[in-house]
This record gives sequence, structure tokens and C-alpha cells, in this order.
Amino acid sequence: MLVRGEVVCLNCGRFLGQLEGERERPYWHARVAHPAGGRKIIRTASGLRCGYCGGRAFIENLERVPRVA
Ligand SMILES: [Zn+2]
Repeated sequence: MLVRGEVVCLNCGRFLGQLEGERERPYWHARVAHPAGGRKIIRTASGLRCGYCGGRAFIENLERVPRVA
């Protein structure tokens, strides 16, 4: 099962990009689509961080994505 969500910074509230990955581990098998180039999402051992302010990022509006057969 694939899921897709919007990555938003908890600290500054910026929209960082779209993330798509396996539902069980969306953080680690994720493909991240950045909105305007550059590195807006930083992946760390504890999760995702904001590339602007270093705050914690979280995934919002997580939805299932049907696999194309
Ligand atoms: Zn931020």
C-alpha cells in the first residue's frame, strides 16, 4: 500500500513538499517531491526536519494511493 502526504513544518508552518512511500514506513522509503527545488526536507534518524528552520516536520493529509497495475 502506498500513501501520500504533505510534509509541513511544526515550527514555522511552511509547506515543505509531498511525500510518497510505503504505509508501514513512510519516512524511510519515501520519495519526496520538493515544490521549488532545493533541499527543504532533511531526513534524520528520528524523522523529518524542516530545511528552513530545523524544526520537526510532520506528514499531513495522509491518503492512500492506488497502485497502478
Ligand atoms: Zn520550519
